Amino acid sequence: MKPVRPSPSALDSIPRGLAFRRGIRGQCPRCEHSPLYVSTFRLHTRCPNCDLPLEMEDGWSYGSVPLAYALACIFWVLPIAILFVVGILGLKTAIFLSLGGVILLPVFTFRFTKSLWVGIYYSVLTQEMRHRPEDEKGDNH
Ligand SMILES: [Zn+2]
Repeated sequence: MKPVRPSPSALDSIPRGLAFRRGIRGQCPRCEHSPLYVSTFRLHTRCPNCDLPLEMEDGWSYGSVPLAYALACIFWVLPIAILFVVGILGLKTAIFLSLGGVILLPVFTFRFTKSLWVGIYYSVLTQEMRHRPEDEKGDNH
């Protein structure tokens, strides 16, 4: 399949919300024609269709880690804490369940939080989507 390169004017008109939605759906935020993942746990380094960087330098995608823990705390630890406070769960059970969830949930939410991170990154820094590798050619200052 021939790559579909977005035109420069199309790159200027990608709204933040659209880039975010494409990211969390696991699609390229710029062109929407390619999935973010090459395998279950591995992102494409660059979009195979439009060449948008999807894995930046080492550590770039660490932004997904706090997202994973925030989701685990909001949707797992907080309900357990509430059940402990109202007396439904004992202290040891609450601690055991909370620690287990905080360790295991990020594994199951890995793809979602990494996609969410890509969506957040490109919806906040929309100018990054305008950068194209071919723009660097001949720009050797
Ligand atoms: Zn793309």
